[in-house]
Amino acid sequence: MSEKPLIAITGASSGIGEAVARAFSKAGHPLLLIARRLDRLEALGLPNAVLKKADVRDRAALAGAVGEAEATFGPVDMMFANAGIARLGDIARQAPEEWDEMIDINTKGVMNSVHAVLTGMISRKHGTLVMMSSIAGRKVYPDHTVYCGTKFFVHAVSESLREYLAPHDVRVIVVSPGIIDTEVLDHVKDETTLANYKANKAAIGGGISADVVADLILDAYQLPQRAIVQEIVITPTRQK
Ligand code: NDP
Repeated sequence: MSEKPLIAITGASSGIGEAVARAFSKAGHPLLLIARRLDRLEALGLPNAVLKKADVRDRAALAGAVGEAEATFGPVDMMFANAGIARLGDIARQAPEEWDEMIDINTKGVMNSVHAVLTGMISRKHGTLVMMSSIAGRKVYPDHTVYCGTKFFVHAVSESLREYLAPHDVRVIVVSPGIIDTEVLDHVKDETTLANYKANKAAIGGGISADVVADLILDAYQLPQRAIVQEIVITPTRQK
């Protein structure tokens, strides 16, 4: 068994989740890495890692993955509820199926991830939940309608969880990034929305590396358990 506690990350197969997996692995932590693309998890080649092909919409699969990893590496001490999708688009033209998918993954998927570790953290009076929101969980954009709704949900749930969990000494950290260079927009179908996003991104000099977000999360996690960074808001300097 590793000396450092187990860290669970959903959406670890690319982008910010991948960067966080690498940062915590470098810091010596064993990992539970969850995503649908198992080949991408395997390609990370990280040591002491349990790799699980699972969809965050599948509550039983998440609970099973946590149980399996904990049997090898001890209790999960941090859950990074990171998996999410951004199907941005003009709400009047967007297929409702895109809303369904976003709502299910970005809200219920986050709750399923929390649920898989919550009672364990409460009973140990130790643990950290890192909740992936967005700058779009603090302010709205006209072509981000349902995406903003899902990220405001994450903010609201996190605030409530923080108050609920404070007496149990469990920390809740919200992460609210601006434009980060990842694969998140690869699935946007609305070409006008995509073109506007890219133009805006270029106008502010581009996004920033997921490694910057990962380093901030590692720093926040490494503070004494009695100290909490309640929210990490990280954007390109020129992003308004
Ligand atoms: P990526 O698309 O690179 O990463 C998304 C990750 O989520 C992938 O690992 C993907 O894995 C996983 N994922 C998606 N759906 C599911 C699912 N149903 N079950 C399990 N895993 C899933 O983008 P980012 O790294 O940017 O996104 C990570 C989070 O950061 C998201 O919540 C996003 O909303 C948020 N965010 C991103 C910003 C940015 O500018 N990049 C800004 C603000 C917030 P797989 O497909 O293999 O399942």
